[in-house]
Parts: sequence; structure tokens; C-alpha cells
Amino acid sequence: MAAPRLTIIVPCYNEAAVLPKSSQVLGTILTKMIQSKQVNPRSQILFVDDGSSDQTWTLIRQLEQDNLIFSGLKFSRNFGHQNALMAGMQVAGKFADAVITIDADLQDDPQLIPKMVTQFDDGNDIVLGVRNDRSSDSTFKRWTAETFYKLMRQIGVQLVPDHADFRLLSHRAVQALMQYSETNLFLRGIIPQLGLPTSKLFYRRKPRFAGESKYPFKKMLAFALDGITSFSIAPIQAIMVLGIGVILISLGMLIYTAIRFFTGNVINGWTSLMMSLWFLGGIQLIGISVIGTYIGKIFAEVKHRPRYIIEIDDYSAAQQPQLVA
Ligand code: UDP
Ligand code: MG
Repeated sequence: MAAPRLTIIVPCYNEAAVLPKSSQVLGTILTKMIQSKQVNPRSQILFVDDGSSDQTWTLIRQLEQDNLIFSGLKFSRNFGHQNALMAGMQVAGKFADAVITIDADLQDDPQLIPKMVTQFDDGNDIVLGVRNDRSSDSTFKRWTAETFYKLMRQIGVQLVPDHADFRLLSHRAVQALMQYSETNLFLRGIIPQLGLPTSKLFYRRKPRFAGESKYPFKKMLAFALDGITSFSIAPIQAIMVLGIGVILISLGMLIYTAIRFFTGNVINGWTSLMMSLWFLGGIQLIGISVIGTYIGKIFAEVKHRPRYIIEIDDYSAAQQPQLVA
């Protein structure tokens, strides 16, 4: 069997601080794989510049010039991590037999890349990198991640715990993924749903070696909420249960009041009245906000806006045969 053509996709948002090092590390690994004939000589590393405002794109262009192994894709503005991954896969998926996505900060072990390709050769369409040691992440980050995975499991979404966006996908898996046309993307949830042959590889997650995280708490929370509401209507069902609960409580209160009335013990009702007013108001507000979240999602989906806009695509340009003047 011919060696597969591999494209390594690296999303970059203001990563000028880490690019020189990560391009060197990834470049060395891929060059070795090409030399040992594990992958096709036309295998490449594709940087997706997600609308960076620093020197990221200049650096990518420089890399392209220095070595044909590097290629770049530039968004017109910041569209977010998941969209950068989708764009990389959509563009590279046309030419590559397999793609691997990895963060620019090398927190995920790039030494796993050759092993992922071996698993691909063994017939796996999806190879997931799973962190079996997160001691480099802060306690807070670990705790929030754990809570998130637990919650997702409880509401019935199958996620692979401690697998982020470090994975290999075969050409076939990329094509399958592209059929999911939703604007709101949560790759970690969709990929297990493809149902194609999958294997896992374990590694130790390292701390970011330079620059800072592009996922502050607010963004993480938004990402988690997106994950939940994209895959489950459990929150809406929970509201219904809550509503039924409140009705039962109010029925109880009705009976209580009736008994007091017939025993001639007329109550001074101000406290209970105020309590139920506030209580019900709160529940109604929660209910409206949950439903509103879903309607907002529907709104975003029906508009069917593009996930991203590519300003410059050096990758595809390099794949096309040169036009003869
Ligand atoms: N990233 C991106 N667009 C964004 C935010 C992040 O392309 O809007 C990239 C970022 O450059 C990095 C990867 O996504 O390659 C993961 O981000 P980061 O390392 O900051 O997240 P963390 O590891 O802290 O969760
Ligand atoms: Mg990181």
C-alpha cells in the first residue's frame, strides 16, 4: 500500500510566541516520517491563522518560503478554534488521506503523530489523543473539565473524557464530518457519533511553553454551554420537571389554606403570597432563558451563515497544477 498523504492542521490565534518553536518541532517530526517513507512526500503542515492581530501570518508566510512542508490558510477575522479546525479539515480533506489536528502550543505530545499514523495504517479512521495526566493544568481547570464531562454523561452525551482536539481523521471521516452542517460546532461531541473505527492513544499533557491561553474562563463556560445545548434538550426537560414540582407544592399549599379556612383560622397571607411570587418569578425567568438559549441557536442555524471566511489559501494554491502562461 502506498504511504498515506498526511496533513497536520495547526490552528493559530496570536501564536507568534510559540510558532518558531512548534513549527520546528512539527517540521522535524514530519520530515522524519517522510524520510522513513511512513507518509507520502507531499505531506504538509497547515497553519490556520484565525484572524491573529500579531505577527502570526508573517511568520507562517516566512515558513512557507523556507520549506515546502509548511503551508498556510488565513481567516479574514477571528472565527474561533473549532472553525479554524473545520476550515483546515475542509481544505486539507480534499487532498490528504489523513489529517491530524494539534494545538500550536505543543501542549499535546507531537511524538504521538507517527503512532497515530500507524494506527491509521491498521485500519482506524479516527485516532483520539487522550490525556492520561493533566497535572500540568491548574486545579481549577481540571475541576471544571471533570464537572463538565460528568454533566455531559448525565444528560446522555457520549464524550471521551480528557480528549480535546488532538486527533487523526481519515479522508473518509473528514468527508463524513463535513456533512454536519450546523453553524455551532462541537467537534468533540460529533466525532464519536460518526461511528467509524476508532482507537485511542494516551499521553501526558504539558504546560503551554510560551504565550498565554486563548481560553479564559468566560470562553470556556460558553464552550461548555454550547456543548450541552448542541447535543441535548435535557435542560428544557428539567424545567418541565421543575414546573410539575412547583404545581405539586402549590396544590399542597391550596389544601393547607383550605383547611385553615374551614377551621375558621383565617391566615394572614402576606408572607406566603410574597414567597410564591418571587419563587415562581425566578423559575419562570430560568425557564425563559433556557428556552431562549435554544431559540437563539435555532436563529443562528437558520441564518446559515458561513462558519468562516478564508482570505488567503496558500494550501490549495500549492496543490493545483501550475497554469502555463
Ligand atoms: N485558537 C484559535 N482561535 C481562537 C482561540 C484559540 O485558533 O479563537 C487556537 C490556539 O492558537 C491554540 C488552540 O486553539 O492553537 C488552543 O488554544 P489554547 O492553547 O489557548 O487553549 P488551552 O490549551 O488553554 O485550552
Ligand atoms: Mg493550549
